[in-house]
Amino acid sequence: MLEWMLPIGQKTASMDLTSMTTSTGSSTTTPSSFPQTWDLASLAPVPSTTEFRVELDQFKLRLRKLADATNELPPVNSRPENVARWVQLVTEYEFVDAKSADFRALIDCYAAADAENKAFRQLQAELAATTPDREQIAASVEYAFRDASDNDFQAFVAAAPVLKKNQYFLTTRRKNAALRLPKSQELLAADLAVDGLHGWGRLFDRVSSALKVQVQEKGKFVLRSPGQVQFDSPQRTVRENNFLALDSAWGTIADTCADAINHIAGTRLTTYKHVGLKDHLEAPLRANRMTRETLDTMWSTISTNKHVLNEYLTKKAMLIGVDRLAWYDQWAPLPQLPGVENSDDISYDQACQSIVEAFQTFSPDLGEFARMSLTQRWVEAENRSGKQQGGFCTGFPTAQQSRIFMTYTNSADSMSTLAHELGHAYHSWVLRNEPVFLQDYPMNLAETASTFAEAVLGEQRLQRAKSDYERLQMLDGMLGDAVAFLMNIHARFLFEDEFHRQRRSGELSAAQLNQLMEKAQREAYLGALSDDGWNPQFWVSKLHFYITSVPFYNFPYTFGYLLSLGVYAIGKESGGDFPEKYRQLLLATGSQDAEDAVQSTMGFDLRKPDFWLKSLSIVADRVKQFVELADRAIKKTKAL
Ligand SMILES: [Zn+2]
Repeated sequence: MLEWMLPIGQKTASMDLTSMTTSTGSSTTTPSSFPQTWDLASLAPVPSTTEFRVELDQFKLRLRKLADATNELPPVNSRPENVARWVQLVTEYEFVDAKSADFRALIDCYAAADAENKAFRQLQAELAATTPDREQIAASVEYAFRDASDNDFQAFVAAAPVLKKNQYFLTTRRKNAALRLPKSQELLAADLAVDGLHGWGRLFDRVSSALKVQVQEKGKFVLRSPGQVQFDSPQRTVRENNFLALDSAWGTIADTCADAINHIAGTRLTTYKHVGLKDHLEAPLRANRMTRETLDTMWSTISTNKHVLNEYLTKKAMLIGVDRLAWYDQWAPLPQLPGVENSDDISYDQACQSIVEAFQTFSPDLGEFARMSLTQRWVEAENRSGKQQGGFCTGFPTAQQSRIFMTYTNSADSMSTLAHELGHAYHSWVLRNEPVFLQDYPMNLAETASTFAEAVLGEQRLQRAKSDYERLQMLDGMLGDAVAFLMNIHARFLFEDEFHRQRRSGELSAAQLNQLMEKAQREAYLGALSDDGWNPQFWVSKLHFYITSVPFYNFPYTFGYLLSLGVYAIGKESGGDFPEKYRQLLLATGSQDAEDAVQSTMGFDLRKPDFWLKSLSIVADRVKQFVELADRAIKKTKAL
């Protein structure tokens, strides 16, 4: 759930890469009431046709023409001749923005379903080559807005309906312009970043992907890439040895990575200084349309309430038979109880049925939407070879439809992925009649609907579990997520925050970065792991710290996780008006800042602890259930 990445300025797919499954099975021939392949042909001409080529070429021309037109923009004020030209420009901008999303979504879908097909890769590259045109339009518009006075800008927005309905978008662009350097400097900085800032990111990619780890498998030493080394073995010695092998491999590139991370942060701090930003969190906060106050309240409420997770970690240690957990024990499976069999075989039809039913209980609108998408072939789920890994949901703004890509493998995980992606699709569905610029939302709000959908399904599965032990395992998975969001990601935040503070007075060595990381982990995990169980070199291994296009990549996930849990808690308490409130919240994500969206729909102020306490009460409740079930299981094992 953690590793998705939204391409910058691209209104496209929500990628969910941890639900990666390798498709190996052959296609199933059982007749199904829920089709397992999607329909793309009704959305647009098939890419191999002349019709498609003509449409694509026409679109590229229109985009180029608009980009050229933004070289000389009219002044931003309420003079009728200027307003008339702006109305034309904004209308055209809306059109190419929607079309651009349509084309990217279409090609991504074809490419995902036929991963080996080179023609689709070429089309993806052709579309990627239109990015400079789209960036030029965005930048020129922002500079034009920045140069206008407050009064002129207000009068301008009020002067025409198309401007008025896009007010939030236009105002946000104007605010974003304040984060830009003067135009000539910005252009120079972007050019230099190719070999500077982004060069450091590429260096990390190169050294980390070339890394090989020697691990023992079935008595033999083999070389693996870091991503292949797992910590989910039931045997602790295997987990420990894997961790140690991996850790020493990361150690060999620590000095190089220290250079990279120092220069990435250094470049950012220098840019902020020239722009006039004092706080290194201002840019990431603005990208997520939220305030510092909200972020601080979120973390402090987490800090004072997450001790319940220690009870979970302690109990988990008992269940897997260790005194205290080490870093590498976090993903250890619970031991199998004798006599309890693991039945994790859910057919696609059963999964679809369960999802529709679970959604119905919370919101009939969501349930009906899921039924519609699943029956009208919005989903590509077939388990066959030749498909891309992972899952995503992508929107077609012009057709007002979405498509979901995944490989369904008859497992509970797969079923959750399907629910998750349907949540994303519902989010787009709710926003479908909004102006296209108001259908976009930032990272922290992107996972609200999807995580909410997963939580709704999870709750139903808990209730319907066939045994206490199955329930215990489900809760273990849910609380593992809670540890990831509230402890692991908190540690990343504390580390990055302190690192940026210290980096202002100079570079930090690999040893200093190790110290910072261990300190952050001890604080974020409330000291819950064993004394030698920390992971000081985590900063070397985590790609997120080296993503040069997005600073502070991690906290939006914790925000999104708690937002969806809070909404879920409110839904459990409220009566029949919840579905409408929920719909309104999703609608607001496209046209309001995070605080306003929640305040105006759910009635909570994110700058105060109340909302976050609601979210955390769901976690506390799950811990309570886990502890009770674990105690019973431990008693049972002793009695055997
Ligand atoms: Zn997602």
